[in-house]
Amino acid sequence: MVNVTPDPRKARPRVTALIRGRELPFELNSHPDACPICHTAIIPIRLHVRILENDSADMEILYACPNHACDRGFLGYFRSVNNVYFFKNSAPFKESKEVFPPEIESLSPLFVEIYNQAKSAEHYELDQISGMGYRK
Ligand SMILES: [Zn+2]
Repeated sequence: MVNVTPDPRKARPRVTALIRGRELPFELNSHPDACPICHTAIIPIRLHVRILENDSADMEILYACPNHACDRGFLGYFRSVNNVYFFKNSAPFKESKEVFPPEIESLSPLFVEIYNQAKSAEHYELDQISGMGYRK
């Protein structure tokens, strides 16, 4: 007899949410793996799950960052595709500026500015804007 143990790294995380008084299970593709405020790689602490009962049926999860230096709460936003909730982004998002060598910073401060704005736009899924910024 072959004993097959599912690989926990491949198992999709599940959460439960209260829908009209009943706890129902939901499947996610993954939890966020970084804090949007301190930008540390984390396994976030899950505090509360909400399913938005409108046309989108999206999900919001309230997390806490386990990094003691940060200790902030943030929201993860998920979109439902074939009954799996896919992580979109999280908020509030604190910009983390890319540090370039001093030669570049002084030669082209505008490039550094555009690059960092493009990076923020990418976070908010404004890919048309971030694409334009990166091409500059
Ligand atoms: Zn944090």
